[in-house]
Amino acid sequence: MLITKKHIYTFLVILCIILINVFSVVLVLTADFGDKKVIVIDAGHGGIDGGVSVGKIVEADVALGLAYELRDALVKLDYKVVLTRDSKLALADGKSADMQARKNVIDSANADMMISLHVNKYAQESVRGVRVFYDDTNKHKESASRMQTLINSRINKTYVGRADFKASGGDFFVTKCSDVTSMIIECGFISSPKDRALLLSAPYRFELCGVIADGVVSMVNVGA
Ligand SMILES: [Zn+2]
Repeated sequence: MLITKKHIYTFLVILCIILINVFSVVLVLTADFGDKKVIVIDAGHGGIDGGVSVGKIVEADVALGLAYELRDALVKLDYKVVLTRDSKLALADGKSADMQARKNVIDSANADMMISLHVNKYAQESVRGVRVFYDDTNKHKESASRMQTLINSRINKTYVGRADFKASGGDFFVTKCSDVTSMIIECGFISSPKDRALLLSAPYRFELCGVIADGVVSMVNVGA
């Protein structure tokens, strides 16, 4: 085949298109794997597993609302946020498949911290407060304790009149399933009319999630 100017021109155009595409892919990869710190927020329960409830107030819905609020607070602080559950639905059919799917999200996010949000229920209405839980192997006890101390001083002291809650250990799948710094925050007791009213208050949810976000900042520096 005779190589004409037209052939060379066509070759150059194709080369440019290839280079632009390669460059775009590099840009996308850079955006995805930039130096932002990654926080996974796990809204507890979902789908047919509503968690605890009082009347029409269902834990899964309250947890999702709090997850959105915390996501917004962290994104404003320049973190990358990955939600395990971004709708009312569970991640899979059946509890164990759902929990495994949450682990997969945590693993693939390459996260710096994982916070699982729940609300509590107890027989006595007088039991209140935001409580932090860590894995019973104690691998994340210090981080959970720091978060509890912060929440005590800025939330529990003001709204519950107590600042002496201690973070507690327990055997929980989400705090055990990875090596990522992980904690569960039980954001109040829906069995307590006072906590319930707080959890239904948008300004309170904003304030609480702002404090949790500050706790994240104190443990996971923004940027590299
Ligand atoms: Zn729960």
